Amino acid sequence: MKKQRLAILGSTGSIGTQSLEIIRQHPDKFDVVYLTGNSNWKLLAEQIQEFTPQKALIATEDHLDDLKAVAGNTEIVTGADYLPELASSDDVDTVLNALVGFAGFDSTLAAIKAGKKVALANKESLVVGGEIITEALKKSSAELIPVDSEHSAMLQCLVGENYDEIEKIIITASGGPFREFTKQQMQNVTVQQALKHPNWSMGAKITVDSSTMMNKGLEIIEAHWLFDIPVEKIEPVIHPQSIIHSMITFIDGSSKAQLGLPDMKVPIIYALSHPERFPLETPRMNWQKAQKLTFEPVDYEKFPCVKLAMESIEAGGYASVVLNAANEVAVERFLKEEIGYIQIPEIVEKSLANIQWNDSLDPETLKEIDKETRTFAQSLK
Ligand code: NAD
Ligand code: MG
Repeated sequence: MKKQRLAILGSTGSIGTQSLEIIRQHPDKFDVVYLTGNSNWKLLAEQIQEFTPQKALIATEDHLDDLKAVAGNTEIVTGADYLPELASSDDVDTVLNALVGFAGFDSTLAAIKAGKKVALANKESLVVGGEIITEALKKSSAELIPVDSEHSAMLQCLVGENYDEIEKIIITASGGPFREFTKQQMQNVTVQQALKHPNWSMGAKITVDSSTMMNKGLEIIEAHWLFDIPVEKIEPVIHPQSIIHSMITFIDGSSKAQLGLPDMKVPIIYALSHPERFPLETPRMNWQKAQKLTFEPVDYEKFPCVKLAMESIEAGGYASVVLNAANEVAVERFLKEEIGYIQIPEIVEKSLANIQWNDSLDPETLKEIDKETRTFAQSLK
């Protein structure tokens, strides 16, 4: 079998490092062609030494020379602007986009236009550019496979089904660390508390997004674009154990669910092996242990981000760009302790109310809206 030639964008992050753990188990199936990191040059250097890619990119220039000194035959390039070029190169079959935030959009689009298989962890790509990406997909031989566990679950439930027989998508959410907090307790949430997720260990941005449940809002938008389903047919439900990763209800009332331990390696390998399955050594569920799976409705008063995200889709293309940019800025400001926790949804809401846009969406307009929103969200007290 020909090896899949992989570009791993964001290889030093949480998804990036877990994907390399999988690749270690399958040296006969994957060839790592490109690796990229932002500033963690030491980890990138270790990855280069182990996987000997053709090229590696470090987005910031600070340690370029240090990296070059230990890179052996791997060519080292710098600058995030170069990422879309790697994502569309003839040397690559599959792009795993594990970048975080709006910074991932250009590479997703470039990879799709170049007809690649795209394993997409960077959900923000679809949140800001769902329309552009789905249009580009129609004109290309590219495939877009989600890495996000919920969307991987949806895709796995939809194998062999007709999409027009879907009645509802039930997207599960752990509810994060503040599920049982009162609104009063939410006022005093610290950075340290927000960075502790009960079930998953992830990058800082998505961990905070999970705690505000903006992550679920972004995922509803992601599901809307991936499966071409109206937002009204996507129902979030709290499932604190994170064993059911999502469900589909069909028009005859039957539902399918996908289950497993909370372990991102499973949806990562599914995206890479799709439409096949590859073996994975990772812990399995123990069904002999007595345990409960429970479900609760989402409290939209306590987690306004979910509604803001759903409303942004109804408001039209530009609004999800504003939602995303305002949220990225608010989360960064919270992590720097510039603002309090409950200001995160406030900044998003104020940005949505203040930034309006009528132009039709193209990649350049997305960037303008993103930039203008960031300036606005940064200026809010
Ligand atoms: P992370 O912060 O751990 O890693 C992000 C990676 O992107 C790092 O390699 C970093 O060096 C690189 N990067 C960051 N900013 C960059 C920039 N401006 N230019 C170039 N490179 C940059 O994040 P993560 O948790 O791995 O998440 C990555 C994506 O996957 C996010 O979109 C997240 O929502 C999604 N996701 C993550 C998980 C998870 O379990 N971690 C689960 C589902 C979805
Ligand atoms: Mg998810």
